[in-house]
Amino acid sequence: MIVQQFVQTAFQQNTRVIACQKSGQAICIDPGEESPEVVAFIEEHGYELAAICLTHGHLDHVGGTAYLHENFPEAEIVAHRDEADLYYALPQQPLMMGIQPHQLAAMGMDYADPPKITRFAEHKDILEVGDLRFQFRHCPGHTLGHIVLVEENEKTVFTGDCLFSGTIGRTDLPGGNYEQLIDSINKNILSLPDEYAVCCGHGPDTTVGRERVMNPFLNG
Ligand SMILES: [Zn+2]
Ligand SMILES: [Zn+2]
Repeated sequence: MIVQQFVQTAFQQNTRVIACQKSGQAICIDPGEESPEVVAFIEEHGYELAAICLTHGHLDHVGGTAYLHENFPEAEIVAHRDEADLYYALPQQPLMMGIQPHQLAAMGMDYADPPKITRFAEHKDILEVGDLRFQFRHCPGHTLGHIVLVEENEKTVFTGDCLFSGTIGRTDLPGGNYEQLIDSINKNILSLPDEYAVCCGHGPDTTVGRERVMNPFLNG
């Protein structure tokens, strides 16, 4: 499994391209912004982009979906059903954050309507990408339809904005719920063995074992 990370947007979001070495099939998790760099990386390696997987619909995770899909129109666009409304509201999201309409272009947030979700990620469904098998797990709490992706053979979980190194996702935005987030993390992430690598939506990677012991939101 090849994992290439790109830190994107003013929110320092971790966009990742994950490829199967053998087949050359790849996915992109959370394309944060219009990024020729991501497109060039995929093209230079000759990867076939099978899917664009969205952990959730916040603008820093989906802002680059349209551009990436224009370049790789065969790629599925995958998100949870409960996240569709937030995803399709991308053009309105900056305004909800208090950004003024006349500031949108300057901030790179003048979003058009994003392309249609082509596959809904069902809880425990598997997405096969060459030899890689990504299992979706519905983890509400940061948003209603947040998912994480678990790759069992590679012992890796991509946690979006559920779980970070030493902290957890915000729950004060629309659709957020603190108890639900803790429950989601316990059931779907901390239930994995300690050695699992945790690739977070912001900040450094960590492991399940480290967060189980060190994360002040989880070790009580
Ligand atoms: Zn978020
Ligand atoms: Zn985020």
